Amino acid sequence: MMHSLSLPTPFPVGAVNVYLFEGDELTLVDTGSQTSRTLESLRQQLATRGFQIRDIRRVIVTHTHLDHCGLTAQIVAESGARVFTHRNNVEWLTQFPQRWQADEPFLDHIATQNGVPGGLRETLSGYVTTLARYCAAVPIYGVLEDGDQMTLDGALWQVMHTPGHSGGLVCLYQPEQQCLLSSDHLLKKISSNPFVELSVNGTHKRRHSLVEYIASLRRVAELPVQRILPGHGEPVTDDHRALIARRIQSHHNRADQIAHALASGSQTAYQLIRVIFPNLSPANTLLAFSEVLGHLDLLEEQGRVRQQAHGELAYYRLN
Ligand SMILES: [Zn+2]
Repeated sequence: MMHSLSLPTPFPVGAVNVYLFEGDELTLVDTGSQTSRTLESLRQQLATRGFQIRDIRRVIVTHTHLDHCGLTAQIVAESGARVFTHRNNVEWLTQFPQRWQADEPFLDHIATQNGVPGGLRETLSGYVTTLARYCAAVPIYGVLEDGDQMTLDGALWQVMHTPGHSGGLVCLYQPEQQCLLSSDHLLKKISSNPFVELSVNGTHKRRHSLVEYIASLRRVAELPVQRILPGHGEPVTDDHRALIARRIQSHHNRADQIAHALASGSQTAYQLIRVIFPNLSPANTLLAFSEVLGHLDLLEEQGRVRQQAHGELAYYRLN
């Protein structure tokens, strides 16, 4: 049996879905955020199915966002569960929060380069620091790669590495049931944000997250899928190819909107954010920043836009 558990998180996205597989080894896919409320809800929902946290034998972490991985260390401390995750997540999870904090100067550099004003940069790095309380470091037992298989409650599930929303995000696919655990790669009601992220080889080169994301979406569109069980919200049981086509189209539309805004002359990414999201709150700036940079990457990839340096600032202009 597989159960979907909805756990509260303190984040704007709301509840997160984690998945519990019974069978030889009780396995939890994602864990929720590191808050007492989330932990209590997990305990209660396990109890209604006759389990306790200490019964969990394996945890699979789909990606390193704090609503998905936050409680992993707590669960391991109580159960001794073995943790599995994609290679790209290992350094981050095992060295939290040092690895997270090591990214801060890089993010500040990217923000400076793209014209984010000083006061707002400080606010943003304050948010990042605050978020560190929602996770703890945890040892990884099994490193997952694309194409690996895991037996979950008697069925073979394939690991799919689908970078984009996060560079180490994995989905799990069961071909006979045509079922996909999509985590945040594909959600029914929310368009997944391709987050600003360090390149995983540690070269301080920003990943082109949206370009990667669209390639991952195209890969999932090729699969026969009857049912998608996502990281947030309700399952997707209608045509996933139509949903993916809509997502890709909306990204192209947004890229067109940015290209249109550049018709009046070159601008920094932050100037573009002000045009595209005029009423943006500081709390949403990081998301908007990720999104606009992603669309600029896409336009560069398409040969429609290029960057020009003016001092420490990067300006984008139409080709
Ligand atoms: Zn999430």
